[in-house]
Amino acid sequence: MISGKAMVCGVIGNPVGHSLSPMMHNFFGTALGLDFVYVPCHVENADVETALKGAYALGFQGLNVTVPHKQRVMPYLAELDEAAKGIGAVNTLVRQEHGYKGYNTDAAGLLQAMEEQDVEIRGRDCLVLGAGGAAKAVSYMLMKERAASVTVLNRTLDKARRLAEEMNLLFGRDAMKAAGLEDWEKLPGEDYLAVQTTSVGMYPQAGHAPIENPAFYERIRMAVDIIYTPAETEFMRLVRKAGGRAMGGLDMLIYQGIIALKLWNPQITVPDDVVRKARSRMEEILKK
Ligand code: NAP
Repeated sequence: MISGKAMVCGVIGNPVGHSLSPMMHNFFGTALGLDFVYVPCHVENADVETALKGAYALGFQGLNVTVPHKQRVMPYLAELDEAAKGIGAVNTLVRQEHGYKGYNTDAAGLLQAMEEQDVEIRGRDCLVLGAGGAAKAVSYMLMKERAASVTVLNRTLDKARRLAEEMNLLFGRDAMKAAGLEDWEKLPGEDYLAVQTTSVGMYPQAGHAPIENPAFYERIRMAVDIIYTPAETEFMRLVRKAGGRAMGGLDMLIYQGIIALKLWNPQITVPDDVVRKARSRMEEILKK
């Protein structure tokens, strides 16, 4: 039941109609008996500042921020959390006395999803495919968790180089390298932990992977594709076919959401059976 005192949160994006966050957060709100409602808000690119002022004036406790506003919101925030500063993008806003504080829960959400699957990062040689917004959060997390090395492979080499330079500077060690997607044959390792962050292979372009040569996948022991639709991407299929382990992006989505929900409601815990139920509900929706 939502009362007149309900906490109101939402997601801003452009577009926002595809977002699973309203379903997920309202499911958690109901399952946990919270007086809480979460709404989708389509915000045009030119209206981001007005939208944040409006949400604050309307008493919104918090917002999630999705593509393409994750950087655009930053100038209008009262404060930034350390990870959001390092990543250079924000996906969660939390109401403070004089405006919103920006967080990035993508990195922590992925870390939690990997921990749940007993994936070790410390000391591992890692690959990140892609150098867009999500790759920044992933690279930040891998560097923070002290991967031995992180090589970012991207179609546009300059973007990969910039990302590697930024992270090496931020973490004060030379652990991150850059290469073009076509340069995978020059990689020295045979036993990588790989995170796929490009949009290649996402529905409706399922059936494609950013690297399609099966020989690449023989070098991967463990992989995460942060895409969550389809449930098994071509990248995951190729990893599994070559004998490696692969997980998809749905758990990252769920855990980044739970971390945001806890930032808005610090008193809550989300029991495992509630997480499992939310997951199966989301899987059902994604199958349609
Ligand atoms: P983005 O900033 O637009 O970056 C897209 C990346 O994909 C870039 O590296 C781009 O390479 C690469 N790319 C696009 N088309 C390509 C192609 N045909 N061949 C090779 N590379 C190509 O997007 P993003 O925000 O990082 O999001 C990327 C994906 O992550 C999306 O599918 C999104 O749904 C997913 N995601 C999932 C979660 C989760 O919770 N599971 C969270 C965030 C994002 P160039 O630099 O060369 O253009």
